[in-house]
Amino acid sequence: MTDLIDIAGVVKRFANEPDFAERLAGMLGARIDTRAVHAVDGVSLRIGEGEVVGLVGESGCGKSTLGRMVAGLIAPTEGQIAFRGRDVTGGSQRRKQDALAIQMIFQDPMASLNPRMRVRDLIGEAPQMHGLVSRGELSGYVSDLLDRVGLSPDVAQRYPHQFSGGQRARVGIARALALNPELVVCDESVAALDVSIQAQVLNLFMDLREKLGLAYLFISHDLGVVEHISDRIAVMYLGRIVEQGAATDLIARPNHPYTQAMVSEIPRIGTQKRRFSAIKGEIPSPLSPPPGCHFHPRCPFATERCRSERPALREVAPGRLSACHLNDSTG
Ligand code: SF4
Repeated sequence: MTDLIDIAGVVKRFANEPDFAERLAGMLGARIDTRAVHAVDGVSLRIGEGEVVGLVGESGCGKSTLGRMVAGLIAPTEGQIAFRGRDVTGGSQRRKQDALAIQMIFQDPMASLNPRMRVRDLIGEAPQMHGLVSRGELSGYVSDLLDRVGLSPDVAQRYPHQFSGGQRARVGIARALALNPELVVCDESVAALDVSIQAQVLNLFMDLREKLGLAYLFISHDLGVVEHISDRIAVMYLGRIVEQGAATDLIARPNHPYTQAMVSEIPRIGTQKRRFSAIKGEIPSPLSPPPGCHFHPRCPFATERCRSERPALREVAPGRLSACHLNDSTG
């Protein structure tokens, strides 16, 4: 499979800007914490043409930050991102074709759709601005896109508040499709929807993939959501990928203790007993990540070595990478 996206050693640090109370305390002589937030800590990941890669992890693990870097909305602090072999690391300097080829769909369509714009303009503005469609062709172009996402072309004159959550999600998808992307970064794109509507929108994503040959980076906190649509899954914990591999194999035989705990939390019909107990504790702050293996404060198998030495992400089976010292004893 040809690489569409090649993310290599990407790091993103944010300066921890003091808030008003902290600045006030600083003026009174208190010491202010100015440590950087390590949102993404050396991530490498490839996405092939037409491939669906699920990126899962708890809230605050850095998956949305990684998605925004891939979409070119923010630039990495270190590392490279290539699209079809071309360097697109600095998002704002991307060639126009590369910028249009990677689109992002956000979690909350209500927040990402301008409430004062009609659907026709929400979907049609960007392709017209970029010269993909002329003014005369716009109505037909928007109607085709609405039809493609399962909405009647009659809704083109409506405003976002006149739609249900599921319909707004479809409008958001039509808006991304309007720029003829090759890769769509979906950031928790079904998280706000009821379970039955989630299933319909996931089916739409898969239908579009088949018809248009789209690739997705599908970001979710819910492994149960990504397992059915992903070819491969990457599991992220506190800024690092801890495991990745083919979706069905990773769910059937999770290697990393964090993935094992996540898999055990997927609800299954008829499952009487979980194989592992639920993940205990909170994800630590990216302001002060634990040394060694970031997962060690919550890991039931942690040893002294885990507290001081970062486990390398290495191949533990064909196509399967995992970052856990336990694999050293199994060769
Ligand atoms: Fe647990 Fe140690 Fe493996 Fe980290 S390296 S997941 S702490 S056993």
